[in-house]
Amino acid sequence: MKVLLSFDIEVWCGGWARLDETFPAAFDRYVYGRSSQGEYALPKTLEMLNACGLRGVFFVEPLFAARFGLHHLVTIIDLIRNAGQDVQLHLHPEWTDEISPAIIPDNRVKRQHMSYYTLVEQSALIARGKQMLLEAGAGPVNAFRAGNFGCNRDTFRALGENDIGFDSSLNANYEVSGADLCDGPWRLLPSVIEGISSFPVSLFADGLGKTRSAQVGGCSFAELRDAIENAAMAGHDEFVIVSHNFEMLKPNSAQPDPVVVRRFARLCRYLGDNSQHLPTALYSDCRVGSSRSEAAPPRVGLSATLQRHFEQLLRRF
Ligand SMILES: [Zn+2]
Repeated sequence: MKVLLSFDIEVWCGGWARLDETFPAAFDRYVYGRSSQGEYALPKTLEMLNACGLRGVFFVEPLFAARFGLHHLVTIIDLIRNAGQDVQLHLHPEWTDEISPAIIPDNRVKRQHMSYYTLVEQSALIARGKQMLLEAGAGPVNAFRAGNFGCNRDTFRALGENDIGFDSSLNANYEVSGADLCDGPWRLLPSVIEGISSFPVSLFADGLGKTRSAQVGGCSFAELRDAIENAAMAGHDEFVIVSHNFEMLKPNSAQPDPVVVRRFARLCRYLGDNSQHLPTALYSDCRVGSSRSEAAPPRVGLSATLQRHFEQLLRRF
């Protein structure tokens, strides 16, 4: 089973009212995360992956740079590419009304999700995002993830129009994700939608029976490990994990969160130690269709989930 270790890379200014004032500090936190203990945003993430010989897919959000300058995007892509890792496209169309010249004519009102845009608009946004990544030095752009997993069927059509053959936007834990796609195997398993190879974010049933997404910031290491092993045993061919550039940082701070740092370090070590049968991969290494369609969502043990509850208490105090 291949493990897709994916990271959504984005910069937020903590609100839209004072963007130009807050951007420099926000960029510093989200891209570097400088602290006395090290740079726990992108630099440390890349260092930890490479120390264990892992491949990561970095879905980079480019639209912010249409407001603040392409050189900011170049900085991000240089960090990732110089570490030998893969850059792909992530879009938060919330930026659409904050940039000029406008990408689409109707940009007076902020619309959060890709699914709130027409096919023509989505296609234009994806085209601009892809073009910006390429101008900033990304390699071939062949995979996409919508911000907040907010895709719909038109997103897949728009990807086809832009020669992007892989998508990882679907997350059945989010109501907004693929809301106009009928319930079906797409929720859990790779499938082909409008000609695009779709690899949804992996879900699992936790020790209390609740469905969770495989996200570094929201699961214990034991849950991720159990879910990966259970998925492999059940016959899944891919396991998609999500993280972000800021997940190892404490909220609203550039200080590392020791609980998440330790968790990510253990995950990297585990995947490095098991790279023979659980290799980390790129989307372009994956093919839809070989997963057994009856493969059940993986389950994890109660102790793994209790570990998460314990960690949440630790983080609070
Ligand atoms: Zn995002």
